[in-house]
Amino acid sequence: MDMKFVSELDKLLLKTKKIVIIPHRNPDGDALGSSLALKHYLTKKGHETSVISPNDYPNFLKFLPGEYEILKYSKNPNDARKKIYNAEIIFTLDFNTLSRAQDLTDIIKNSSAKKIMIDHHEAPENYSDLQYSDTSMSSTCEMLYKVIKALDSDSITQTIACCLYTGIMTDTGSFKYPSTTSETHKAVANLIELGANSSKIHQKIYDSSSFSRLKLLGVTLSNLVKIPKLPVVYMTLTQKELNFCNFQKGDTEGFVNYGLNLEGINFSCIMIENENEKKIKMSFRSQGKFSVNSFARIYFNGGGHYNAAGGYSLDSLEGTIIKFKNALQEIRQEF
Ligand code: 5GP
Ligand code: MN
Repeated sequence: MDMKFVSELDKLLLKTKKIVIIPHRNPDGDALGSSLALKHYLTKKGHETSVISPNDYPNFLKFLPGEYEILKYSKNPNDARKKIYNAEIIFTLDFNTLSRAQDLTDIIKNSSAKKIMIDHHEAPENYSDLQYSDTSMSSTCEMLYKVIKALDSDSITQTIACCLYTGIMTDTGSFKYPSTTSETHKAVANLIELGANSSKIHQKIYDSSSFSRLKLLGVTLSNLVKIPKLPVVYMTLTQKELNFCNFQKGDTEGFVNYGLNLEGINFSCIMIENENEKKIKMSFRSQGKFSVNSFARIYFNGGGHYNAAGGYSLDSLEGTIIKFKNALQEIRQEF
């Protein structure tokens, strides 16, 4: 635990402050869980606190306590801008490259508020006044658990526990990724003791699929392709296929992981066409020593973690597949 970070933060929070908390665009369970947990904590301590998300997020995250109070910049830009303008402190959670805040990037940059980053992604940018960055941590929620414990060990309510549990659970693939340590399990055990209902949270996140999402998974898996002589698979989804299955935000979450279910495969990719944004969104997952973070950075304008990263391509889907295959040939000795 970074005790210098905690004592500086403690000092900053001595007086009541106007605070804004910002997760990355397309926030996931960790980004939203940490943002809401921090909001509940700071509100209880008397601060005026808002969570502002750059855009909307999947329905399966809307059970999180306090979710209804999140301001979405994409729906309410004026209110969001005003709140950021008036903020004395801005927390950026679960990202470390300002561009991940999408349309909020410049607004954050130009704000005079103290900026505080808590994050576990690789290669942090140097934009914050105070930062707690640790790429070995399973999740931002596990980091925040430590921070809140250090600030006031008795302050984790059932509501905060639920938010933190959700983020740790989703970012560790339900406690199976290598970033899951005995410390992670201790944190999670404590969160359950404090009232997080683990089976209910699992159900809300994983067993709330719509019929059409499961159909879309079927289409995705039928599009699975193995790269000859390499331990690599990829999947594709065209806009047409998405429309046919009545695609809703968040429906494709987790699909890329299915590639790693195959024996002998240690790199899986999904390419999803987005006609609106005129780009192909790409997700990468690996097992073991192959760094998808570097792969995403070098070839597809992205980044993330060692074994889980994302990026995008501005080519057509066909062009992107060719680029992907060529990239694999360039680095084939790494497998
Ligand atoms: P996903 O594939 O689930 O969208 O993202 C996997 C991981 O990579 C997440 O931790 C996410 O924050 C990161 N990531 C996804 N897309 C991008 C991107 O375009 N740029 C960067 N820097 N990171 C990304
Ligand atoms: Mn995370």
